[in-house]
Amino acid sequence: MKKIGVLTSGGDAPGMNAAIRAVVRTAISKGMQVFGINRGYNGLINGDVYEMNTRSVSSIIQRGGTLLYTARCPEFRTEEGLQKAKKTCEELGLEGIVVIGGDGSFRGAADLSERGILCVGLPGTIDNDIACTEYTIGYDTAMNTVVEMVDKLRDTCHSHDRCSVVEVMGRNAGHIALNTGVACGATFVLVPELPYDLDEVAKKMLETKKTGKQNFIVIVAEGIGHSELIAKTLEAKTGIEARATILGHVQRGGSPTLRDRVVASEMGYYAVELLENDIGNRVVGMQQGKIVDFDIQEALSMKKPFDEKLYQISNTISI
Ligand code: ADP
Repeated sequence: MKKIGVLTSGGDAPGMNAAIRAVVRTAISKGMQVFGINRGYNGLINGDVYEMNTRSVSSIIQRGGTLLYTARCPEFRTEEGLQKAKKTCEELGLEGIVVIGGDGSFRGAADLSERGILCVGLPGTIDNDIACTEYTIGYDTAMNTVVEMVDKLRDTCHSHDRCSVVEVMGRNAGHIALNTGVACGATFVLVPELPYDLDEVAKKMLETKKTGKQNFIVIVAEGIGHSELIAKTLEAKTGIEARATILGHVQRGGSPTLRDRVVASEMGYYAVELLENDIGNRVVGMQQGKIVDFDIQEALSMKKPFDEKLYQISNTISI
Protein backbone atom coordinates (compact mmCIF):
# COMPACT_ATOMS: atom_id res chain seq x y z
CA MET A 1 0.00 0.00 0.00
CA LYS A 2 1.06 3.57 -0.60
CA LYS A 3 -0.90 5.78 1.81
CA ILE A 4 -1.25 5.16 5.52
CA GLY A 5 -2.35 7.02 8.64
CA VAL A 6 -1.19 6.97 12.24
CA LEU A 7 -3.13 7.79 15.41
CA THR A 8 -2.86 7.50 19.19
CA SER A 9 -5.95 6.43 21.15
CA GLY A 10 -7.05 5.80 24.74
CA GLY A 11 -4.71 6.71 27.60
CA ASP A 12 -1.39 8.29 26.63
CA ALA A 13 1.98 6.76 27.43
CA PRO A 14 5.58 7.99 27.20
CA GLY A 15 7.12 6.63 24.01
CA MET A 16 4.05 7.16 21.85
CA ASN A 17 5.92 10.00 20.14
CA ALA A 18 8.88 7.74 19.42
CA ALA A 19 6.45 5.26 17.83
CA ILE A 20 4.81 7.98 15.70
CA ARG A 21 8.25 9.13 14.57
CA ALA A 22 9.26 5.60 13.58
CA VAL A 23 6.01 5.06 11.65
CA VAL A 24 6.31 8.35 9.77
CA ARG A 25 9.94 7.99 8.82
CA THR A 26 9.75 4.28 7.95
CA ALA A 27 6.76 4.94 5.69
CA ILE A 28 8.47 7.86 3.95
CA SER A 29 11.68 5.90 3.48
CA LYS A 30 9.61 3.19 1.78
CA GLY A 31 8.08 5.71 -0.60
CA MET A 32 4.71 5.81 1.16
CA GLN A 33 2.66 8.88 2.08
CA VAL A 34 1.75 9.15 5.76
CA PHE A 35 -1.00 11.13 7.48
CA GLY A 36 -1.26 12.09 11.14
CA ILE A 37 -4.75 11.69 12.59
CA ASN A 38 -5.51 13.91 15.60
CA ARG A 39 -7.24 12.80 18.83
CA GLY A 40 -7.63 9.11 18.14
CA TYR A 41 -10.65 7.90 16.20
CA ASN A 42 -12.24 11.37 16.56
CA GLY A 43 -9.80 12.68 13.96
CA LEU A 44 -10.86 9.99 11.51
CA ILE A 45 -14.55 10.75 12.04
CA ASN A 46 -14.07 14.53 11.76
CA GLY A 47 -11.39 14.53 9.08
CA ASP A 48 -8.83 16.13 11.43
CA VAL A 49 -5.96 14.67 9.46
CA TYR A 50 -2.77 16.14 7.92
CA GLU A 51 0.07 14.88 5.80
CA MET A 52 3.32 14.44 7.68
CA ASN A 53 6.90 14.61 6.45
CA THR A 54 10.22 13.62 7.99
CA ARG A 55 10.46 16.99 9.76
CA SER A 56 6.92 16.76 11.23
CA VAL A 57 8.37 14.38 13.79
CA SER A 58 11.62 16.23 14.54
CA SER A 59 12.62 16.52 18.20
CA ILE A 60 9.77 14.43 19.56
CA ILE A 61 11.57 11.18 20.38
CA GLN A 62 12.48 12.55 23.83
CA ARG A 63 9.07 14.03 24.61
CA GLY A 64 6.32 12.42 26.69
CA GLY A 65 2.66 12.65 25.67
CA THR A 66 1.65 12.41 22.04
CA LEU A 67 2.09 14.90 19.22
CA LEU A 68 -1.16 13.62 17.71
CA TYR A 69 -3.13 14.09 20.95
CA THR A 70 -5.28 11.26 22.19
CA ALA A 71 -8.91 10.85 23.16
CA ARG A 72 -11.66 8.38 23.74
CA CYS A 73 -14.28 8.29 21.02
CA PRO A 74 -17.63 6.69 21.93
CA GLU A 75 -19.00 7.42 18.42
CA PHE A 76 -16.47 5.03 16.93
CA ARG A 77 -18.25 2.15 18.65
CA THR A 78 -21.32 2.76 16.45
CA GLU A 79 -21.77 1.66 12.83
CA GLU A 80 -22.42 5.28 11.87
CA GLY A 81 -19.10 6.37 13.41
CA LEU A 82 -17.24 3.55 11.70
CA GLN A 83 -18.76 4.49 8.35
CA LYS A 84 -17.75 8.15 8.80
CA ALA A 85 -14.20 7.04 9.59
CA LYS A 86 -14.16 4.76 6.57
CA LYS A 87 -15.39 7.62 4.36
CA THR A 88 -12.55 9.89 5.56
CA CYS A 89 -10.05 7.15 4.71
CA GLU A 90 -11.55 6.63 1.27
CA GLU A 91 -11.57 10.36 0.50
CA LEU A 92 -7.89 10.64 1.43
CA GLY A 93 -6.98 7.31 -0.14
CA LEU A 94 -5.78 5.90 3.20
CA GLU A 95 -5.51 2.13 2.89
CA GLY A 96 -4.05 1.35 6.29
CA ILE A 97 -3.70 2.84 9.77
CA VAL A 98 -1.28 2.31 12.63
CA VAL A 99 -3.26 2.55 15.89
CA ILE A 100 -1.16 3.15 19.00
CA GLY A 101 -3.18 2.38 22.15
CA GLY A 102 -4.56 -0.35 24.36
CA ASP A 103 -7.09 -3.18 24.09
CA GLY A 104 -10.04 -0.83 23.54
CA SER A 105 -8.27 0.87 20.66
CA PHE A 106 -7.46 -2.55 19.16
CA ARG A 107 -11.18 -3.49 19.21
CA GLY A 108 -11.83 -0.36 17.16
CA ALA A 109 -8.92 -1.28 14.86
CA ALA A 110 -10.46 -4.74 14.30
CA ASP A 111 -13.83 -3.17 13.46
CA LEU A 112 -12.25 -0.83 10.92
CA SER A 113 -10.13 -3.63 9.41
CA GLU A 114 -13.33 -5.63 8.91
CA ARG A 115 -14.67 -2.71 6.88
CA GLY A 116 -11.70 -2.71 4.53
CA ILE A 117 -9.25 -0.26 6.14
CA LEU A 118 -6.33 -2.41 7.27
CA CYS A 119 -5.20 -1.51 10.80
CA VAL A 120 -2.14 -2.52 12.78
CA GLY A 121 -2.15 -1.96 16.55
CA LEU A 122 0.90 -0.98 18.58
CA PRO A 123 0.71 -1.58 22.35
CA GLY A 124 0.94 1.84 24.01
CA THR A 125 -0.02 1.82 27.68
CA ILE A 126 1.94 2.26 30.89
CA ASP A 127 0.14 -0.65 32.60
CA ASN A 128 1.69 -3.45 30.52
CA ASP A 129 -1.75 -5.06 30.59
CA ILE A 130 -1.90 -6.24 26.97
CA ALA A 131 -1.84 -10.02 26.92
CA CYS A 132 -0.14 -10.72 23.59
CA THR A 133 2.98 -8.79 24.44
CA GLU A 134 5.45 -9.02 27.29
CA TYR A 135 6.12 -5.30 26.97
CA THR A 136 4.07 -2.20 26.21
CA ILE A 137 5.36 1.23 25.19
CA GLY A 138 5.43 3.48 28.27
CA TYR A 139 5.79 0.77 30.91
CA ASP A 140 9.46 1.32 31.66
CA THR A 141 9.18 5.11 31.91
CA ALA A 142 6.16 4.88 34.22
CA MET A 143 7.95 2.45 36.52
CA ASN A 144 11.06 4.60 36.65
CA THR A 145 8.86 7.56 37.61
CA VAL A 146 7.34 5.50 40.43
CA VAL A 147 10.77 4.46 41.67
CA GLU A 148 11.96 8.07 41.74
CA MET A 149 8.85 9.18 43.67
CA VAL A 150 8.93 6.30 46.16
CA ASP A 151 12.63 6.89 46.84
CA LYS A 152 11.72 10.46 47.79
CA LEU A 153 8.88 9.26 50.00
CA ARG A 154 11.21 6.83 51.69
CA ASP A 155 13.53 9.67 52.74
CA THR A 156 10.76 11.44 54.57
CA CYS A 157 9.34 8.17 55.95
CA HIS A 158 12.72 7.38 57.40
CA SER A 159 12.99 10.77 59.12
CA HIS A 160 9.59 10.31 60.76
CA ASP A 161 9.59 6.53 61.40
CA ARG A 162 6.52 6.26 59.21
CA CYS A 163 4.91 3.89 56.80
CA SER A 164 4.19 5.13 53.30
CA VAL A 165 1.27 3.54 51.47
CA VAL A 166 1.77 4.38 47.81
CA GLU A 167 -0.93 3.84 45.20
CA VAL A 168 0.43 3.26 41.70
CA MET A 169 -1.35 2.81 38.38
CA GLY A 170 -2.77 -0.50 37.23
CA ARG A 171 -6.56 -0.82 37.22
CA ASN A 172 -6.66 -4.47 36.27
CA ALA A 173 -3.02 -5.40 36.50
CA GLY A 174 -0.40 -5.33 39.22
CA HIS A 175 2.67 -5.37 36.97
CA ILE A 176 3.72 -1.80 37.83
CA ALA A 177 3.03 -2.39 41.53
CA LEU A 178 4.98 -5.64 41.71
CA ASN A 179 8.05 -4.49 39.79
CA THR A 180 8.29 -1.11 41.50
CA GLY A 181 7.66 -2.83 44.83
CA VAL A 182 10.71 -5.01 44.28
CA ALA A 183 12.77 -2.07 43.01
CA CYS A 184 11.85 0.12 45.99
CA GLY A 185 12.16 -2.56 48.65
CA ALA A 186 8.49 -2.44 49.59
CA THR A 187 7.49 -4.40 52.68
CA PHE A 188 4.31 -5.50 50.93
CA VAL A 189 2.75 -5.20 47.48
CA LEU A 190 -1.03 -5.40 47.03
CA VAL A 191 -2.17 -6.35 43.53
CA PRO A 192 -5.57 -7.09 41.97
CA GLU A 193 -4.42 -10.54 40.82
CA LEU A 194 -3.98 -11.91 44.34
CA PRO A 195 -5.97 -11.79 47.60
CA TYR A 196 -4.48 -9.84 50.48
CA ASP A 197 -4.87 -9.64 54.21
CA LEU A 198 -4.01 -6.44 56.07
CA ASP A 199 -3.44 -8.43 59.28
CA GLU A 200 -0.62 -10.17 57.48
CA VAL A 201 0.84 -6.85 56.28
CA ALA A 202 0.63 -5.43 59.82
CA LYS A 203 2.23 -8.56 61.26
CA LYS A 204 5.15 -8.30 58.87
CA MET A 205 5.62 -4.61 59.69
CA LEU A 206 5.75 -5.38 63.43
CA GLU A 207 8.05 -8.38 63.01
CA THR A 208 10.52 -6.42 60.89
CA LYS A 209 10.29 -3.45 63.26
CA LYS A 210 11.55 -5.76 66.01
CA THR A 211 14.67 -6.49 63.94
CA GLY A 212 15.31 -2.76 63.56
CA LYS A 213 13.41 -1.79 60.41
CA GLN A 214 12.50 1.87 60.68
CA ASN A 215 10.53 2.72 57.58
CA PHE A 216 7.93 0.86 55.59
CA ILE A 217 6.70 1.11 52.05
CA VAL A 218 3.48 -0.59 51.02
CA ILE A 219 2.68 -0.41 47.30
CA VAL A 220 -0.99 -0.64 46.35
CA ALA A 221 -2.14 -1.10 42.76
CA GLU A 222 -4.92 1.23 41.59
CA GLY A 223 -7.17 -1.81 41.10
CA ILE A 224 -7.08 -2.41 44.88
CA GLY A 225 -7.58 1.30 45.67
CA HIS A 226 -8.68 2.53 49.13
CA SER A 227 -5.13 3.62 49.95
CA GLU A 228 -6.26 6.11 52.61
CA LEU A 229 -8.27 3.42 54.35
CA ILE A 230 -5.41 0.93 54.06
CA ALA A 231 -3.04 3.47 55.65
CA LYS A 232 -5.49 4.16 58.52
CA THR A 233 -6.04 0.44 59.09
CA LEU A 234 -2.33 -0.34 59.13
CA GLU A 235 -1.71 2.53 61.55
CA ALA A 236 -4.46 1.23 63.84
CA LYS A 237 -3.12 -2.32 63.71
CA THR A 238 0.57 -1.47 64.21
CA GLY A 239 0.75 1.87 65.98
CA ILE A 240 3.14 2.97 63.21
CA GLU A 241 2.08 6.28 61.65
CA ALA A 242 1.04 5.64 58.06
CA ARG A 243 0.37 8.08 55.22
CA ALA A 244 -1.17 7.40 51.84
CA THR A 245 0.09 8.94 48.59
CA ILE A 246 -1.70 8.44 45.30
CA LEU A 247 0.84 9.05 42.54
CA GLY A 248 -1.79 9.43 39.80
CA HIS A 249 -1.18 10.86 36.36
CA VAL A 250 2.41 11.90 37.02
CA GLN A 251 3.12 8.28 36.03
CA ARG A 252 1.82 8.89 32.52
CA GLY A 253 4.18 11.76 31.73
CA GLY A 254 7.86 12.47 31.33
CA SER A 255 10.61 11.87 28.85
CA PRO A 256 10.58 8.22 27.74
CA THR A 257 13.40 5.97 28.90
CA LEU A 258 15.87 4.37 26.50
CA ARG A 259 13.88 1.13 26.58
CA ASP A 260 10.61 2.81 25.64
CA ARG A 261 12.25 4.77 22.84
CA VAL A 262 13.92 1.70 21.36
CA VAL A 263 10.90 -0.61 21.61
CA ALA A 264 8.61 2.10 20.19
CA SER A 265 11.01 2.59 17.28
CA GLU A 266 11.22 -1.15 16.57
CA MET A 267 7.46 -1.65 16.79
CA GLY A 268 6.71 1.41 14.65
CA TYR A 269 9.07 0.13 11.96
CA TYR A 270 7.54 -3.35 12.12
CA ALA A 271 3.97 -2.01 11.80
CA VAL A 272 4.83 -0.18 8.58
CA GLU A 273 6.46 -3.31 7.17
CA LEU A 274 3.17 -5.18 7.72
CA LEU A 275 1.13 -2.47 5.99
CA GLU A 276 3.65 -2.25 3.16
CA ASN A 277 2.80 -5.90 2.51
CA ASP A 278 -0.96 -5.20 2.77
CA ILE A 279 -1.20 -7.10 6.05
CA GLY A 280 -3.74 -5.66 8.51
CA ASN A 281 -5.97 -6.63 11.44
CA ARG A 282 -2.79 -7.34 13.44
CA VAL A 283 -1.33 -6.29 16.79
CA VAL A 284 2.41 -5.94 17.16
CA GLY A 285 3.92 -7.33 20.35
CA MET A 286 7.10 -8.56 21.95
CA GLN A 287 7.70 -12.21 22.84
CA GLN A 288 11.02 -13.30 24.37
CA GLY A 289 12.52 -10.01 23.30
CA LYS A 290 11.51 -10.39 19.65
CA ILE A 291 8.96 -8.27 17.81
CA VAL A 292 6.06 -10.41 16.56
CA ASP A 293 2.47 -9.90 15.43
CA PHE A 294 -0.92 -11.49 16.12
CA ASP A 295 -4.40 -11.42 14.66
CA ILE A 296 -6.29 -8.77 16.68
CA GLN A 297 -9.06 -11.12 17.89
CA GLU A 298 -6.50 -13.72 18.88
CA ALA A 299 -4.50 -11.04 20.73
CA LEU A 300 -7.61 -9.86 22.59
CA SER A 301 -8.51 -13.38 23.70
CA MET A 302 -5.08 -14.07 25.23
CA LYS A 303 -4.42 -13.97 28.99
CA LYS A 304 -1.27 -12.58 30.56
CA PRO A 305 0.06 -14.55 33.51
CA PHE A 306 0.97 -12.70 36.70
CA ASP A 307 4.59 -13.15 37.74
CA GLU A 308 3.99 -15.11 40.94
CA LYS A 309 7.67 -16.00 41.21
CA LEU A 310 8.60 -12.31 41.39
CA TYR A 311 5.85 -11.82 43.98
CA GLN A 312 7.37 -14.61 46.04
CA ILE A 313 10.84 -13.07 45.67
CA SER A 314 9.45 -9.70 46.74
CA ASN A 315 7.95 -11.21 49.90
CA THR A 316 11.09 -13.18 50.68
CA ILE A 317 13.53 -10.31 50.50
CA SER A 318 11.45 -7.60 52.11
CA ILE A 319 12.08 -8.75 55.67
P1 ADP B 1 -7.35 1.81 25.47
O1 ADP B 1 -7.10 1.75 24.00
O2 ADP B 1 -6.23 2.47 26.19
O3 ADP B 1 -7.77 0.47 26.02
P2 ADP B 1 -10.13 2.71 25.59
O4 ADP B 1 -10.65 1.40 26.09
O5 ADP B 1 -10.66 3.94 26.20
O6 ADP B 1 -8.55 2.82 25.69
O7 ADP B 1 -10.41 2.74 24.02
C1 ADP B 1 -10.02 3.82 23.23
C2 ADP B 1 -11.00 4.02 22.10
O8 ADP B 1 -11.08 2.85 21.29
C3 ADP B 1 -12.45 4.26 22.52
O9 ADP B 1 -12.73 5.58 22.87
C4 ADP B 1 -13.20 3.87 21.26
O10 ADP B 1 -13.11 4.90 20.29
C5 ADP B 1 -12.37 2.69 20.78
N1 ADP B 1 -12.99 1.45 21.29
C6 ADP B 1 -12.92 0.95 22.53
N2 ADP B 1 -13.62 -0.19 22.66
C7 ADP B 1 -14.17 -0.42 21.46
C8 ADP B 1 -15.02 -1.44 20.93
N3 ADP B 1 -15.45 -2.45 21.68
N4 ADP B 1 -15.37 -1.34 19.62
C9 ADP B 1 -14.94 -0.33 18.85
N5 ADP B 1 -14.14 0.67 19.30
C10 ADP B 1 -13.77 0.63 20.57
